Parts: sequence; structure tokens; C-alpha cells
Amino acid sequence: MTKPAPKDWILGISPYVPGKAAADDGRPLIKLSANENPLGTSPAARAALVAATADLATYPDPGAAKMREAIAAAHGLDPARVIYGTGSDELLHIAASAYAGPGDEILYVRYGFSVYDIAARRVGAIPVIAPDADYATDVDALLACVTDRTKVVFLANPNNPTGTMTPREDIARLHAALRPDILFVLDQAYAEYLDGDEDDGGMELAKSAANVLVTRTFSKIHGLAAERIGWGYASAEIIDALHRIRAPFNVTTAGQAAAIAAIRDSGWVDASRTHNRQWREWLAAEIAALSNHGLRAVPSKANFLLILFEGKLTAEAAMKGLWDEGYATRWLPGQGLPHGLRITIGTAEQVRAVAAKLRAMAEAA
Ligand code: PMP
Repeated sequence: MTKPAPKDWILGISPYVPGKAAADDGRPLIKLSANENPLGTSPAARAALVAATADLATYPDPGAAKMREAIAAAHGLDPARVIYGTGSDELLHIAASAYAGPGDEILYVRYGFSVYDIAARRVGAIPVIAPDADYATDVDALLACVTDRTKVVFLANPNNPTGTMTPREDIARLHAALRPDILFVLDQAYAEYLDGDEDDGGMELAKSAANVLVTRTFSKIHGLAAERIGWGYASAEIIDALHRIRAPFNVTTAGQAAAIAAIRDSGWVDASRTHNRQWREWLAAEIAALSNHGLRAVPSKANFLLILFEGKLTAEAAMKGLWDEGYATRWLPGQGLPHGLRITIGTAEQVRAVAAKLRAMAEAA
């Protein structure tokens, strides 16, 4: 041995590929590749963030007490059972680390969020991928993949990159059928885009069940992706385990201040949800009108559409054409979707421009 060797399982990880913001030649692109809020950040959250930068020399509140209280007040939760992370990504990683290790299995559905694979491999666990049902969760297929070695199940609802929603009954059935010693991580990064009656019941489960962790983020509807703030809710025992391994001071002072103001600004959240629903449905209808050219959109409840290209126009060509028009979208060959392009719902003008370009390309192909 002449030099340090990373663990074999670390070298088995394919690094996370973020959505691009600029072309390879440095030309800026309108970014519809990372599911950010096209309306931006609540002005109240921005003002709170700026005010909080007055003191940069002091560490943030390590217990994020005020932020936990604001989150708990907004969702009717116990603040002592709110955990927070540097993005919800940190929570996914520490959940895997706390509950799985080498040789254990971590289970999720095909076309699940790509961080689950990294979170599993990072701790030497084996990622197990259950078959989907036309891009949506197949609860029975998922349950059929559970073994004695399964330690964690990850499920994003709505899911990224498909946008599909696993309904409340299925979540309840899945949870009821899982062994109680398996940690069920319900990743609700896009939950704020749902209407109240579409709620998957995950937060209610996290309140009462001993094996459910719900994760949320300020990166999506709250328009605070730059600040990297996520949070989660679970039993006191799970929260205790996660606190032991989260990074100290993992949410900045400015981030905590911004999050408090953002969660209180329900007007911004409502306007963002309404905008998203209107333009997601509009774009879905435009894609449906191109079905004779082999395009279809997977039914989405999130702030993006996964468009499948099953005719002459390929997803790769569509991605490049949109690129030339100044739009970055997410082509997903690395996730087993070479025929899929994920497009974030942008402003009205952006969505119209994307639809017009897709139509022109589909008709010319
Ligand atoms: N879960 C899902 C399903 C996501 O799509 C994302 C963001 N791409 C995350 C978690 C992580 O988001 P963040 O770390 O910004 O909270």
C-alpha cells in the first residue's frame, strides 16, 4: 500500500449530476433543469436573510430553535421532533448512515431520486431497485423486494424525476406491510405543490409511527435552493439518532432567518402553487396534442414534467434544440431514461416558448 485507498463501495458511486445553468461555452441558459421556483424567493424571506447577514462572525444557532418552532407552528408539529439539514439531501444521507451499513439493503423504486443510490453506496449498503408501474410506484413490486437485510426504504412523493404521486391509500398500505424495524423515508421535497386533498398522509404517519421519517425542503416552492435548508419529522428516537451524526451548525444563520420568513409567507407559497398548477396543466395539454408525434408527459403533481419521446424526435435532440433556444432542461440517460426529458415549470413566457419549440421540432422531425 503506497497511498490511501477509498473504500470499494465509494468508487462504485456515480457522482450526482446537477442540472446545468450555462452552456459549455459559458453562455447563460434559462434553467429549467433543477426544479427551482421560477417566481424566485419570497421578498420577506429575502429581507430576513439580508438582515441576518449583519453578524457573520458568530456561528449559527446549532439547535435552530426559532426555525424549528416556525416549522412546527406552520405544520402542527412538536418542535422537539423537527430535524434540519444542509438541504434535505443531508437528511437522506444521515438517515441511510444511521440505519444501514455494509451488506444491508436500501430499497427504492426505479426512477427514484438519484441521491438514494449515493446515500446507500456511501455507507456500503446495497441499493435494491424495485420495478415501477408505467413510471409510478408499484407497491406490491416494492414489497416483493423486501428481504431480511432491508433496512431503509426511500420513496419520494411526488417523485423526481417522474412527477408521479403515490396516493394516500398506497402509502398507508405500504407502511402497514413493511416490517416495523425498516425505516421508511418519505421524501416530500415537492409536497407543497399538492392541493390539500392530495396529501399523502405521510406527516400524520410520521407523528404516530415509530419507523417513518418525512423529509421536506426549502429549495423548491420556498425558492431558497441557494441556502441549502431541509427539514424532517419523525419519532423522538429517530430524531435523536440523526442529531448524533448531522454536521454541527448545518444550517446557516441567514438560512434559518430566511426559512422562518418563508414558511410564514403563505401568500408566496399559494401563488407559487397556483402558478405551477396552471402552467403544468397547460404544458401537459400541449404535449398531449403532440401525441401523434410520439410525445407524452408522465402525469405529474410536482413542479416539472417528465416528457417521453417515443416517435421520430428524440429526447436528446429535443434537449439540444431547447438548448439552442436558450433553455437548459434535464435529459436523463444516466437514470435509465434516454427517452425522457424533465422540464421544470417556468414562467408563463418560458413555458410557452418551450412548448412552441417542442411543437416545431416534433413537426419537423
Ligand atoms: N428529494 C428530491 C425528490 C429532490 O428532487 C431533491 C432536489 N433535487 C431533494 C430531495 C434534495 O433537495 P435539497 O437538498 O435541495 O433539499
